[in-house]
Amino acid sequence: EYSLVISPICEHDRAIGFCLLFLDITEKAHAEELRREFSANVSHELKTPLQTILASSELLSAGVVKSEDVKDFITKIHSEASRLVSLIDDCISISELDEGSTMQFDKINAYSLIDDVVNALQSAADNKKISINTSCNDIKLNCVPHLFYEIVYNLVDNAIRYNKVGGTIEISLKRGPSAFELRVKDSGIGIPKDSLDRIFERFYRVDKSHSRASGGTGLGLSIVKHAVLYHGGKLFVESTLGKGSTIGADFPLSMAD
Ligand code: ADP
Repeated sequence: EYSLVISPICEHDRAIGFCLLFLDITEKAHAEELRREFSANVSHELKTPLQTILASSELLSAGVVKSEDVKDFITKIHSEASRLVSLIDDCISISELDEGSTMQFDKINAYSLIDDVVNALQSAADNKKISINTSCNDIKLNCVPHLFYEIVYNLVDNAIRYNKVGGTIEISLKRGPSAFELRVKDSGIGIPKDSLDRIFERFYRVDKSHSRASGGTGLGLSIVKHAVLYHGGKLFVESTLGKGSTIGADFPLSMAD
């Protein structure tokens, strides 16, 4: 996409020529298009749970819900409200990353960060009888701590959400020959081949209803992508449908001394 700018060249108040400027605005137009698309998606994603909350609470306050169904209605309102909070948290993370502001790097102990994530998600894993194993070199990483936490948290959260009952998850962070390799391997449903390079797009989901029903916002992996790129890393994804997936990233060795 191009924009044409015509500007007169003057000498002693007389136009002696014109300067034609062709500006390539493809990138700008694309960014604008993405922003528009994102706002439309966010509005839609916010509206759906709010409609459920409104409808359920109206029925409850009108007293037309059978007493044995009241608990289900309240549970539904609670889970839709939780999804709204997650969606808003994810939007805050995305706008922080979009702004391109510089964030504070700090040295953190990689093992304890992974441990914190596992503790935060332990009860979700227990609910599906999923066991989590961690293997991690004793590495002090120079990173933006809350962004690195988001990377690991979103990957493990997905590994639980798209896993089978009784499944397994292996989290590893190791110093490889040319990079720090973060891998989260699950024994879940896997990802179809033609979706592999789309799962990092905002609001892309292989199965919308599965993602929604399990509390997904459709933004987790796009936050992972931005956060990985912020650290100069490269995404890694490998998956076999029906068997499981390994998603992670390679980070520059210069992140540790
Ligand atoms: P969501 O909130 O829907 O999980 P994400 O951005 O985290 O959004 O992931 C995008 C989509 O990628 C998911 O809806 C799901 O279809 C797929 N996906 C992500 N992680 C996994 C995984 N570990 N196993 C299978 N599918 C996955």
